[in-house]
Amino acid sequence: MIVAIANQKGGVGKTTTAVNLAAALALRGRKTLLIDLDPQANSSISFLDLTTVQKSTYDAIGDTTCSLESIIKETTVPNLWVAPARIALAKLESRLVGELDAHFRLKDKLAELGSEYPTIVIDCPPALGLLTVNALVAATHILIPIQSSYFALEGTDDLLETIEKVRLRPNPTLRILGVLITMHDRRTALARDIREQIQRVFGSKVFKTVIAKSVRLEESPAYKESIFTFAPDSSGATDYYSLCEEVIERVEARTS
Ligand code: ATP
Ligand code: MG
Repeated sequence: MIVAIANQKGGVGKTTTAVNLAAALALRGRKTLLIDLDPQANSSISFLDLTTVQKSTYDAIGDTTCSLESIIKETTVPNLWVAPARIALAKLESRLVGELDAHFRLKDKLAELGSEYPTIVIDCPPALGLLTVNALVAATHILIPIQSSYFALEGTDDLLETIEKVRLRPNPTLRILGVLITMHDRRTALARDIREQIQRVFGSKVFKTVIAKSVRLEESPAYKESIFTFAPDSSGATDYYSLCEEVIERVEARTS
């Protein structure tokens, strides 16, 4: 499975979800590759020291002679590898202007990798541009994190429209794996209202697992750890482990 974590809204929990879902899948024994497609490189920084990174997803996607395999780095999490990003990725769109295969670059590079990494998680940037489209073209599934906030559903129409466009041509089998409510505060009435509102719009697509607000989840990247080693007893660890179980269930239910 290749899961793109996407929502063009900024700060909704894409990276936190990509990092901890990838770690959970790896800890469950699945050989997992986390691909960072965000020039901010937040998911790369969550596991790697960027000064050790010479080549990034910018090179692997922008340069036909640079393989994805050659940029992949091992992490301290067993079974987890990262294809890191660098700020240069912000220049990719202008570099690929006029290239007819611009939207297919990541898909083609993944095809070259073969079945080396059976589980792939892609962290997308907060935009619906070329990078996110590359992820959606290459992915088997998309997971949409939605922050439990008053403006939660703002922009989801544009995202769904982009998914439909990608489905129409380059990737008809792309599936919405689910919508994930993040940064939820169970104590407030507003959060409960927002959850109901999201459920009205997305119905059974909404994951049963809800990610609660947790300071531990905010802290763990600074220590270059996933939540599972940084704070294994925290709600964040329980929530992301439960998401991982639900993700596996949903993927397997559809393919069996
Ligand atoms: P961007 O669009 O900039 O890439 P993003 O969608 O990847 O952002 P994150 O970076 O995962 O979002 O999260 C935004 C901020 O919220 C970060 O500081 C992160 O640590 C924090 N955060 C994410 N999830 C939670 C949570 N469940 N509880 C508390 N803080 C959280
Ligand atoms: Mg991010």
